[in-house]
Amino acid sequence: MVPAIDNAPGSRLVVEITALRKSFGEVEVLKGIDLNVHQGEVIAIIGKSGSGKSTLLRCINGLETFDDGALRVDGKQLLHESPTAMRELRQHVGMIFQSFNLFPHLSVGRNVMLAPTLVKKRSKTEAAERARTLLERVGLADKFDAMPDQLSGGQQQRVAIARSLAMDPAVLLCDEITSALDPELVGEVLRVVELLAQEGMTLLMVTHEMNFARKVSDRVIFMHQGRVHEMGPPEELFGSPRTPELKQFLSSLH
Ligand code: ADP
Ligand code: MG
Repeated sequence: MVPAIDNAPGSRLVVEITALRKSFGEVEVLKGIDLNVHQGEVIAIIGKSGSGKSTLLRCINGLETFDDGALRVDGKQLLHESPTAMRELRQHVGMIFQSFNLFPHLSVGRNVMLAPTLVKKRSKTEAAERARTLLERVGLADKFDAMPDQLSGGQQQRVAIARSLAMDPAVLLCDEITSALDPELVGEVLRVVELLAQEGMTLLMVTHEMNFARKVSDRVIFMHQGRVHEMGPPEELFGSPRTPELKQFLSSLH
């Protein structure tokens, strides 16, 4: 009999990382990471500053090369020595950063349309239609013609999310996307991420919002000194941390 797991929805692997290593000069910042991410899974990555969280995400979307190990995204093997493969890869992986990085000279709508027209060769009409749909999804239907500097930080970050989604990424990576926001704007961005999670988007997010991680994620990863130090369901990691390092990290947050 076929094991049930093979037929389970979402059992497809979107990201497969095996023994991934990365050094900057003499310093090894990823010391053998193993991680599988299933379709529709929401994973929160937590850990101290400098533990390698951003570097891991940057390797997954090909912004950073790696030294050893294997990385597959959406079934495609990424070879660390191939810049072409990296560019290819980036089309399947969306990434959102702490800074919103919108193109300041382009309207909100044009920001969302840009990659689909340039990279995917979509027609302007088609791209504009999709952009309107995506902006509606992030609660910004009325901002299509606005310029980025007319928007609040929270609104700009929601545009950045819409812009990522326009490329139909297999997985969306979020690196502390609310850290640069005024506290009163954090909620509106987290609500959009939560909506995406509910809709079945595969999400890998580095976050300091522990309550949010606890509520939304299927799995939490605690990184410590370049390794996955603990991994498990949120109630387990937050409720009964096993290692002194995680206990210490969690108590440092209060
Ligand atoms: P985190 O996101 O968990 O704070 P990072 O992945 O940004 O951690 O960094 C991990 C380590 O790698 C840190 O010691 C950092 O200084 C170092 N590092 C990150 N990027 C570079 C780089 N481009 N060149 C040299 N060292 C880097
Ligand atoms: Mg970081």
